Amino acid sequence: MENIINVTAGKGSSTSFLILGEDKTALIDCGMAYCAYDLIRNIQQVLNEGRRLDYVLLSHSHYDHISAVPYLREVWPEVKVMAAAYAQNILTKESALKTIKELNSQSAHYYGFDRVIDYDDSLMKIDQKVSDGDLLDLGGASITVLETPGHTKDSLSFLVNNEVIFTSETTGCMSKSGKVYPAFIISYEQTINSIEKCRKANARYIVSPHFGFISKSETPVYWEKSLRAVNEARDFVLELFSAGFDEDKIYKEFERAFRDEECRSLQPNYAFELNNRGMIKAIINYR
Ligand SMILES: [Zn+2]
Repeated sequence: MENIINVTAGKGSSTSFLILGEDKTALIDCGMAYCAYDLIRNIQQVLNEGRRLDYVLLSHSHYDHISAVPYLREVWPEVKVMAAAYAQNILTKESALKTIKELNSQSAHYYGFDRVIDYDDSLMKIDQKVSDGDLLDLGGASITVLETPGHTKDSLSFLVNNEVIFTSETTGCMSKSGKVYPAFIISYEQTINSIEKCRKANARYIVSPHFGFISKSETPVYWEKSLRAVNEARDFVLELFSAGFDEDKIYKEFERAFRDEECRSLQPNYAFELNNRGMIKAIINYR
């Protein structure tokens, strides 16, 4: 486990972990733009023996997981950025790149920073697509790709050294109090399947996005909690829908019931709203 190092920077960003193989190094997710230089400093402190960053693996194309990519390329121009094919395609679209930049700027303000040092959109791209079952050999360490859609179409989980699973946001977000927040946006059915798939990978340790390593006591019950959180959210939405509430009213009720203090500290309002309006739509459409 000493070759898996938490290098996360900034609030609200995805967790970022550096995997050190004997030959190569890889970073799993890289967070928002406003804290990219802090992330780079954290990585450099680990890579102090003249090693470089070889790969970046992205769990999906949301801005809070990918936005340090242009800055990482400045320091390590040969780094290879990998993600699902759908993510690769999204990052060729001008509208998506614009949204990513806007959300980065909003987040910088939300977390108390005046501005983000601007980056070149042409550097925000995927160099190589990966898909289910792909294996990245780092020499004495390995990363296996698991497609786990549900949060987004391009959500990937990563199994490191066959013992640590970096679950995608599809399985939800763990919080300090031990509560799992549901985070599925595009499909209820795919989410359930993806949680089962992660569970079957039978990893000894779990890393939850925006949280980190799950404690020993929580690990055996994590998948159950994750399923429960998804079903609870679905039941809540469907009950209101059958009572005649429209999507807007359902969102307001959902926010009142699920947006507690801890959730507020984990995610800015607009991100919560964007994700959960998507989820409500997905639930209603799947009935
Ligand atoms: Zn996301």
